Amino acid sequence: MGEFDLIKRFFVREQSQAGVVLGIGDDCAVLAPTPGMQCLVSTDMLVEGRHFLSTVDPERLGHKALAVNLSDLAACGAAPRAFTLALALPRADETWLSGFSRGLFALADAHGIALVGGDTTQGPLNISITVMGEAPAGMALLRSGARVGDDIYVSGQLGDARLALEVFRGKLALSGEQFEQVRRAMECPQPRVPLGQALRGIAHSAVDVSDGLIGDLGHILQRSGVGARLDVDLLPCSAVLAAQAQAIRRECGLAGGDDYELVFTAAPEQRAAVLRAAEPSGTPVTLIGRIEAELGLRLLDAQGQVLPHQFSSFDHFKS
Ligand code: ADP
Ligand code: MG
Repeated sequence: MGEFDLIKRFFVREQSQAGVVLGIGDDCAVLAPTPGMQCLVSTDMLVEGRHFLSTVDPERLGHKALAVNLSDLAACGAAPRAFTLALALPRADETWLSGFSRGLFALADAHGIALVGGDTTQGPLNISITVMGEAPAGMALLRSGARVGDDIYVSGQLGDARLALEVFRGKLALSGEQFEQVRRAMECPQPRVPLGQALRGIAHSAVDVSDGLIGDLGHILQRSGVGARLDVDLLPCSAVLAAQAQAIRRECGLAGGDDYELVFTAAPEQRAAVLRAAEPSGTPVTLIGRIEAELGLRLLDAQGQVLPHQFSSFDHFKS
């Protein structure tokens, strides 16, 4: 199977999509912007051995490669429109490609977006996706908008992906059923796309949690020039994580990565509006802290005691 057969077989689909004038096949895709909207673009790369294990189910990998990109659009409150796929493959393995494209397109279809181009080359397994989305002019949610006094919220639950990683690393043991549950969180994250869009005009700032809550909330604090307190015992987590020792719960919830939940801030007067915005998509949102003028991040337990924190989020270039 040659390069062009591979593209045709696994990635070209006979489907027209609103806004896509021309998809795969020419030197460029041609997209028609919606009047009044701004275009939001984001890229995320997944490298074997770094972001995923070689043993992962290719269907889940296809899902996750797109999910982590959609999560960035969600964080900005953008509606997904199209994506491109740059793929380096060691070999043209048909079983792998059909599983991968199945997972990829199932999620693409769920969000009504088209694959409009890409690049395919032989090499160590590497998946790089670029997503394009739209938001009404000036309405994108940014990291820089947090204001002193804002509530801090997180969607869904935190820490399961990290818990799964610890099991894969052999540092923890879970029952088969519990492991399946946290493994699913790690391998099949659900990007919070409808929530992100519903928060436009309500939230002041947002970020998605890819590297861990502390680090990603830290981006909001830094870009907004503010500080925060977090009520550590309010962090939402699964029953599986809740059953772990406190130190593991805190480490996974505060510093675990790969959650792809949204952290966002909104004025306290918007509490009802935040809950209303979250409802249609059935996404739970939890109030976990407050933006303060004093710079830095303070972690408080249920008794209001300040916890020392040595948690750091994931950084590819830190040892
Ligand atoms: P060029 O050499 O002009 O960059 P290619 O010959 O690499 O283009 O690709 C041919 C067409 O197939 C282009 O439209 C490109 O966008 C598309 N394409 C290549 N690889 C992929 C892929 N993995 N997924 C989707 N489209 C792809
Ligand atoms: Mg060309």
